[in-house]
Amino acid sequence: MIISMKLHATRAEIEAVFERIRDFGYKVHSIEGEERVVIGVVGVGDVTACLESLEAMPQVEKAVRISAPYKFVSREFRSARSQIVANGVEIGGEEFVVMAGPCSVESEKQIIETAQFVSRHGAKFLRGGAFKPRTSPYDFQGMEREGLKLLQKAKHETGIGVITEVMSDRDVEMVAEYADILQIGARNMQNFALLKALGKANRPVMLKRGLSSTIKELLMSAEYVVAHGNPSVILCERGIRTFETATRNTCDITSVPVLNELSHLPVVLDPSHATGKRSLVPALSRAGVAIGADGLIVEAHPCPEKAVSDGAQSLSFPQFAEMMESLQPYIALWKNARVAEFAAV
Ligand code: PEP
Ligand code: MN
Repeated sequence: MIISMKLHATRAEIEAVFERIRDFGYKVHSIEGEERVVIGVVGVGDVTACLESLEAMPQVEKAVRISAPYKFVSREFRSARSQIVANGVEIGGEEFVVMAGPCSVESEKQIIETAQFVSRHGAKFLRGGAFKPRTSPYDFQGMEREGLKLLQKAKHETGIGVITEVMSDRDVEMVAEYADILQIGARNMQNFALLKALGKANRPVMLKRGLSSTIKELLMSAEYVVAHGNPSVILCERGIRTFETATRNTCDITSVPVLNELSHLPVVLDPSHATGKRSLVPALSRAGVAIGADGLIVEAHPCPEKAVSDGAQSLSFPQFAEMMESLQPYIALWKNARVAEFAAV
């Protein structure tokens, strides 16, 4: 159950609601915004009596029963799509948002050239890992703070927003100084210490689906971030592990509309990690637009054959430009559908 307090409810009024909830034996999880406090009521059993009692309190605006185990991120809590704004760009609104860049930040030349190229061809965010979660401890681990500084420089020179990965709860504040969106990698989707720390971050978070995670687990992880105070979460499908070996991962493309049914949060598709092969990226990107994703995060590199990570799935600049061009008719249809959807509500 979720309780929305009336605007500018006083501390005493909020505490009275907490007390009533606890009297019924439930736990309180509150999110305190500037103007309004929203309270999650967590517990087992029939909540009807508690709900009716809270609804009768004058300082309570609304009490909603939510059956899903994830509360704040569910469509039951919020029936309209959420928009998340980063560097002045809205995700989940009327624009299809493309994020692009190398797997890893490697050098100033590489990242600045990429920022210039992808922004000229319609990308609104520059991606690039400065902290890299690598399967082998002997592989390139990332440029760390130096890499973050290069991303910041690329942003200053081009105006493009920056999305970059944070791997540890200890680094959240530091990465947030440089990033417009904090990326959480698939391997960290259930790093609960990190998810809790992200709840306190003042930046939107893009949460990538774990290699072997269910949609419900992804939403529960998003719930962690929101329940700990940060409502700005973007979900990302990046492929899951199956018996198939023809592609690096298997893209669960259906997860996009499934997530849209279950949650109000924006959903971005990563066709690069989902396939592992650059030849497949444009086709899967088209599918992502057609199925209603809010955007794409795509790997692109000035010289993919020399990339220190994920070269095989990175698009060259000409390939990126060609793909962006070929997506335009699909994006135009996407936009018509989105505008019509917003006009209908
Ligand atoms: C990446 O985006 O480069 C990355 C490491 O992705 P994932 O966490 O989805 O494997
Ligand atoms: Mn990568």
